[in-house]
Amino acid sequence: MNHDLRPKSIEVSNSKGILEIEWSDGHHSEYTLFGLRKNCPCVTCRGGHGSMNTFDRSLFFVEPTQQFQIEDIKQIGNHAIKIFWNDGHNNGMYQWETLRAMCPCTECYPEQE
Ligand SMILES: [Zn+2]
Ligand SMILES: [Zn+2]
Repeated sequence: MNHDLRPKSIEVSNSKGILEIEWSDGHHSEYTLFGLRKNCPCVTCRGGHGSMNTFDRSLFFVEPTQQFQIEDIKQIGNHAIKIFWNDGHNNGMYQWETLRAMCPCTECYPEQE
């Protein structure tokens, strides 16, 4: 993992239900808000410290069973963002590394067919 890798821009579209990241290496990621919320990396959502770095990429490809919206995003240091969800949840620190590892694009996740 390239440690200089960071988002150049982060854009949220609550109406489309997506968050887009333009990375410093030119890569483009598009996440559904549903998948991001369901993959919230906080201890509560992960069900304990042991599974802190686990996530389920298939959640980006399912029909959302719930509409999540992002009210605010705050950058934490220079390694993560904190997402403030409309359901009041805001414990999740999404590190650049985790976000990039979650990228559901066909290049990063070719087996989605
Ligand atoms: Zn959480
Ligand atoms: Zn990707």
